[in-house]
Amino acid sequence: MVLLALVLALSSIQETSPARHVDARRLRETLEKLSEFGRNPEGGVTRLGFSEADLAARGYVSGLMRDAGLEVRVDPAGNLFGRRAGSENLSVLLFGSHIDSVLHGGNFDGNVGCMGAIEVMRTLRDGNVRTRRPLEVVIWSNEEGNHFGLGTLGSGVAAGALGPEILERRDDDGLSLADWLRRYGQDPARLLEARIPEGSLAGYLELHIEQGPDLDERGIPIGVVQGIVGLERWMCEVRGFANHAGTTPMDRRRDAIAAASRHVLSVRDVVRAEAGRQVGTVGSIRAEPGATNVIAGRAVFPVELRDLDGEKIKRMWGAIQEQFARTDREENVETRCDLLERVEGERADPLFQSVIREAAESMSLETLDLPSSAVQDAQMVARIAPMGMIFVPSRGGISHSPRELTSWEDIANGAEVLYRAVLLLDERLNREGRDP
Ligand SMILES: [Zn+2]
Repeated sequence: MVLLALVLALSSIQETSPARHVDARRLRETLEKLSEFGRNPEGGVTRLGFSEADLAARGYVSGLMRDAGLEVRVDPAGNLFGRRAGSENLSVLLFGSHIDSVLHGGNFDGNVGCMGAIEVMRTLRDGNVRTRRPLEVVIWSNEEGNHFGLGTLGSGVAAGALGPEILERRDDDGLSLADWLRRYGQDPARLLEARIPEGSLAGYLELHIEQGPDLDERGIPIGVVQGIVGLERWMCEVRGFANHAGTTPMDRRRDAIAAASRHVLSVRDVVRAEAGRQVGTVGSIRAEPGATNVIAGRAVFPVELRDLDGEKIKRMWGAIQEQFARTDREENVETRCDLLERVEGERADPLFQSVIREAAESMSLETLDLPSSAVQDAQMVARIAPMGMIFVPSRGGISHSPRELTSWEDIANGAEVLYRAVLLLDERLNREGRDP
């Protein structure tokens, strides 16, 4: 009777979700332990890249890698790798994320992908699974960039986007990045040896929390990332004429604040005019001279546009400039904008996207295709290798906050999808003829 009940219970679990290979409890334990490094009284962590808390956490993570039977090494940019040999002489399949946080960050951003990746390695070891290609876990250094103002630092160096010019950057304590690399046991003079030669990576997978509300709101457990959005940032200056606020008639004003305000609404209206997930933001306005009784003669504001499609960004910017020109004529002012920054969006590789979808389907988990609107290490790696990202839901879309939360069930599912995607890619990458 007991046996029958047990069989029934097991079969009902089987029905709702096929058995996971990864060990959900073990994964949770390591995430909880990791959250002790840099823990804040209000919850969450402050574990900036290149800090005591980060260094201690890396010690813990290296131990986990060694326990999982991985060969551990650190590159000169501070990226931490754990390698598992393959049965053939093929290029490496890499997966991981970051364990550094923002100031007063949460316990899940980056950490889920790192502990999930190590859990995948433990699961492969426990099951005596042999892969054809070597597998590596990576913990990228200083992804968030709150320290030194340089985000995706480790992956940026690895992908060739950053070089020795970053070494003399100093933090608020007057320490340089080179000083910190030495504290991490690295020789800054060898920084460029952290570059990953093109062709040596078969690809890169990253499991990450969504950091936005879509999956949570729709109750979908797995996001298949289509790519990481690109962005353009412009600084705009409106030149009017500063004059007496009492004696200047309304029809003779060249009011820089009034014109800038209309520009702000033009940005919003142009971005809203098309269907899609593009966003546009004016985050500040500074006006001069800045007195109650003087009409502003000058106003300065930034414009930021983001979308997966660089052409769409270009098109929106063109439409915004047309609107600015019309407003300038009506308000009798002049506006000019200078490009501050352009970051290219990066598409996830179609094979990687389909493999993630297939892995989720094999678990009877529903998926949603979506872009990442946040910066990711995968964006850097995409410059040198095909990449794919798996998203798991963020409760309420909250991230970079102690209130960041992803359920243990969603985390376990994400890690299982990563496990299955790694095995599918190990097989498919060969079949697709991607190796030399
Ligand atoms: Zn992150």
